[in-house]
Amino acid sequence: MKETNALFASFGLTVFEVMSQLALKHDAINLGQGFPDEDGPLAIREAAAKSLLEGPNQYPSMMGIPALRQAIAEHDRECYGLDLDWQKEVMVTSGATEALQVALFGLIEPGDEVVVMEPAYDCYVPMIKRAGGVPVIVRMEAPDWRLPMEALEAAFNGNTKAIVLNSPLNPAGRVFSWDELEALAELCLRHDVYAVCDEVYEHLTFEGHKHYPLMSLPGMRNHAVRIGSAGKSFSLTGWKVGYICAAAELMPVIAKAHQFATFTTSPALQAGVVEAMTNRMDFTRDLACSLQGKRDLLASGLEGLGFKILPTEGTYFLTVDISGLYDGRDEEFCHVITREAGVAAIPVSIFFDMNGPTHLVRFCFCKREEVLKEALVRLKKWLGR
Ligand code: PMP
Ligand code: GLN
Repeated sequence: MKETNALFASFGLTVFEVMSQLALKHDAINLGQGFPDEDGPLAIREAAAKSLLEGPNQYPSMMGIPALRQAIAEHDRECYGLDLDWQKEVMVTSGATEALQVALFGLIEPGDEVVVMEPAYDCYVPMIKRAGGVPVIVRMEAPDWRLPMEALEAAFNGNTKAIVLNSPLNPAGRVFSWDELEALAELCLRHDVYAVCDEVYEHLTFEGHKHYPLMSLPGMRNHAVRIGSAGKSFSLTGWKVGYICAAAELMPVIAKAHQFATFTTSPALQAGVVEAMTNRMDFTRDLACSLQGKRDLLASGLEGLGFKILPTEGTYFLTVDISGLYDGRDEEFCHVITREAGVAAIPVSIFFDMNGPTHLVRFCFCKREEVLKEALVRLKKWLGR
C-alpha cells in the first residue's frame, strides 16, 4: 500500500481519548477529559428535541440558522459591546474545534509563521502544520503563566501571519488581563498579524476575573477572530456546536474553508442553542459560580494531600505540582493513579511541543461535589499505600 499522510501518521492518539478509555477500563473517576457530569438545562434539550421531531431536518444554511447567528451577535453585543453584523460576521460551526480549523485554513498560506503560546491545547499545532503553516512556539511559565511579551516581541517578524490566543487558558486557568491583552493587541497591530482567539471558556471565570475578547480591544476588530463553544457555556460538550465571529473582510474565506470541512451543523442542536443563548444565560452565570466552589473543594482537598496547587482563574481545570509526592513524570503519574487509585487526570506536558514541565498534572473539577470528594478519598487511600 502507498504511504498515507505523513503528518497525521506521525501523531499519537489524543491524550483525552487515551485517558478517557483508560478511565473506563479501570472504572476510574474521570477528572481527565474536560466535560461536566451533569447535562445543561432541560429547556435547551427540549428545544432541540422539539426541533428534531417537528423539523426542519434538512441542511440548514452553511452559515448557520439565522436565529442562532442573531442570538450570537446579540450575546456579543450584550457581553462585550461588540457590534457584529450577524449576516456577514457570524458563522455557526460544528464545535470550536471546527472553527479553529477553518479559521487557520482560511487565513494561513503555506510558509506563514503562526505563533502559538505554550501550554497550548492539543489541536493547534497539528492544524497549523496541516495548513502548511510554520508553528513558532513561545512559552509561558508556571505558576503565573503571564503573556510572555519579550518572547513574543522576538517571535514576531515579517513572516508572522497569525497568533493563536486561548483565554481563559486550558490547562492553566489564566484569564489574561486587559493590560496583557492591550500589549498583545499593540504587537499584532504593529506587525499586521491576525489573532485566532479560542474563547471557549469565556463565561467560566472566577472571582472577578473578567474575560475580554481580544476582538474588543481598540484596533483589533478586523484583526481578531473570536471562537466560542455552546458545549462549554451550557454543559453540552457532546453537541459540538461552536461559532466564529470575524470581520466581514475575513469571514468569506473562513466560510469557504468551512464549506469544504463540515458545511453545516445539525439544525436541531442549533435550535437548542438559540434557546440557550436567548433565554438561559443565567444557567451559565450560575455554572461559573458553582464551578468556583468545586475548584475550591478540589484544591483544598488536594492541598491537604500534599499537592502544591497552582492558581486557576477560569476554565474547568486545576493544575497541581506533583513533585514531592511522586518521583516519575506527569504522564506516568496519570496512568498510575488511573489504574491504582481509580482517578484519571491529564499530564500537562502534552500541552507542550517538547521539553515541557513533567511535574504538573491537570484535574478537571466540573463534576458533582460527591464525585470530587470520592476522588479525594481514593487519592488519599492510594497515597497512604
Ligand atoms: N479549545 C479549547 C481550549 C478546549 O478546551 C476545547 C475543548 N472542548 C475546544 C477548543 C473544543 O471545543 P468544542 O468541543 O466545541 O469543539
Ligand atoms: N477540551 C477538552 C479538554 O481539554 C477535551 C476535548 C476533546 O477531547 N477533544 O479536556
